[in-house]
Amino acid sequence: MDLTFNEQETAFRDELRTWLADNQPPAKPAADAGDDAQFTWRRDWQRHLYEGGWAAPAWPTEYGGRGASQTESAIYFEEMGRARVPFAANTLGLLLGGPTLMVWGTPEQKERYLPPILSAEEIWCQGFSEPDAGSDLASLKTKAVKDGEEWVVTGQKVWTSGAQYSKWCMLVARTDSEVPKHKGLTYFLMDMDQEQVQVRPLRQITGEAEFNELFIEEARIPDANLVGGVGNGWKVALTTLMNERAGLGFALQIRLRQLLDDVIAAAGEKGLLENPLYADKIADLHARCETIRLLAWKGLTDSERYGQPGPEGSLVKWLWSDTNQRATQLAVDVIGPEALITGTSWSYELLRARGNTIEGGTTEVLKNIVAERVLGLPRLKVAA
Ligand SMILES: Cc1cc2nc3c(=O)[nH]c(=O)nc-3n(C[C@H](O)[C@H](O)[C@H](O)COP(=O)(O)OP(=O)(O)OC[C@H]3O[C@@H](n4cnc5c(N)ncnc54)[C@H](O)[C@@H]3O)c2cc1C
Repeated sequence: MDLTFNEQETAFRDELRTWLADNQPPAKPAADAGDDAQFTWRRDWQRHLYEGGWAAPAWPTEYGGRGASQTESAIYFEEMGRARVPFAANTLGLLLGGPTLMVWGTPEQKERYLPPILSAEEIWCQGFSEPDAGSDLASLKTKAVKDGEEWVVTGQKVWTSGAQYSKWCMLVARTDSEVPKHKGLTYFLMDMDQEQVQVRPLRQITGEAEFNELFIEEARIPDANLVGGVGNGWKVALTTLMNERAGLGFALQIRLRQLLDDVIAAAGEKGLLENPLYADKIADLHARCETIRLLAWKGLTDSERYGQPGPEGSLVKWLWSDTNQRATQLAVDVIGPEALITGTSWSYELLRARGNTIEGGTTEVLKNIVAERVLGLPRLKVAA
C-alpha cells in the first residue's frame, strides 16, 4: 500500500480543493426548518456540484463523470468530508443506482436514466428491505407477475430512504417462487409517480423522516424497466450493495475524524484533556480512527488489485459504526446536558448514530462475514 499521491492525483486533489474553496453551499437550514427544506438544500448543492462537474467524478466521462480512478474517487470523498459540505441529495442514485445501471443496464436505459441522476432532476431510492426481509434479503415476498408487456407488482417495502422525494425505485421483487429463493428474484426500476405506490414516512428518533414504508398495490412496471434479465435480480442487487459499502467508506471515516476533533476541542475548552477518564477515551478513539482510515485505504488497494471491493469492507463498516457511536456518546459526556437539547448537532449525531449499526448491513451480519470470509472460520450451522 503506497499512500503517496502521484502527480495526476495531486492535481485532482488541488483542483477539487480550489473549487470547494470557491463554491461553498448556502447555510444549512435550521434544524426545525423541516425535512423538505433540508432536502431542497442538498438538492441545490448537488445541482451546483453538477454544474461544476463534481457530482460524480468516478462516473466515466461518457456518462458525465470525470473517469476518476479509485484513488481519485477516495480523494474526492475525503476532500468533500474535509470541506464539511453536505452529501448530494441523490446519493443513492449517484453511488448505487447509476453504477448498477452502468454494469447491467441496456444502452437505452443508460441514456435515459443516467443524466437526470447526475443533475438531481430525478431522485432514486432503494426498495430492497421488507418487514420480514432485511439481513436475509433473498427471502423477500414482494411479487411481480407478468401481464403482457408489463409487470404487476404487489407487496410492502420498508426503511426506504428518501422515497418521499424519489422518482425511481430500485426494486427487487420475486418473479418465480418455484425455484431456490436467490434465483427467483428480478430487479426493476419502478416509477414512484403512480397511485398504486403509497409512501408513508416513518419518523425516526432524530425527529426527521429519512425513510419510509412503501405499500405497493398492483403497480405497473414496463418490460423496458427490467434490469439484468428475469431471475437475475440477486446478482444485480449484489452490484448495488457492493457499491453501497465501497462508495461511502471514505466520506464516513473523515466525518468521524472531524467529530472526534470537535470533541477534543470541546474537551480542551472545558479543561478535560488532563482528566484520565476523558484522556483514555480520546486516545482510544484516536487509535480507532487511524485504524479505520488505514483499513479504508488498504481496502482500496485490494479493490484496485482484484477489480472489486473485498469482504474486508465489512470490517471497516463495523468498526466505523461502533466507533461513531462511542464518539457521539463521549461528545455528550464532554459537553454535558446542553448537548441533549433537541436541535443541537450533538444530539442529532448521538441519536442518528444508533442506526449506523443497522443500515447497510447490521454489525452482527458483518461480523459473520468477517469471521467466515476474512478469517476463514467455519460457517455457523443453525440447529434444525
Ligand atoms: C437509517 C437506515 C436507512 C435504511 N435505508 C434503507 C433503504 O434505503 N433501502 C432499503 O432497502 N433498506 C434500508 N434500510 C434497511 C436495512 O438495510 C435493514 O434494516 C438491515 O438490512 C437489517 O434488516 P432488518 O431491519 O430487517 O433486521 P433483521 O434482518 O430482521 O435483523 C434483526 C436482528 O437480527 C440480527 N441477525 C439477522 N440475521 C443474523 C445472522 N445471520 N446472524 C446473526 N445475527 C443476525 C441482526 O443483526 C439484527 O440485530 C435502512 C436501515 C436504516 C437503519
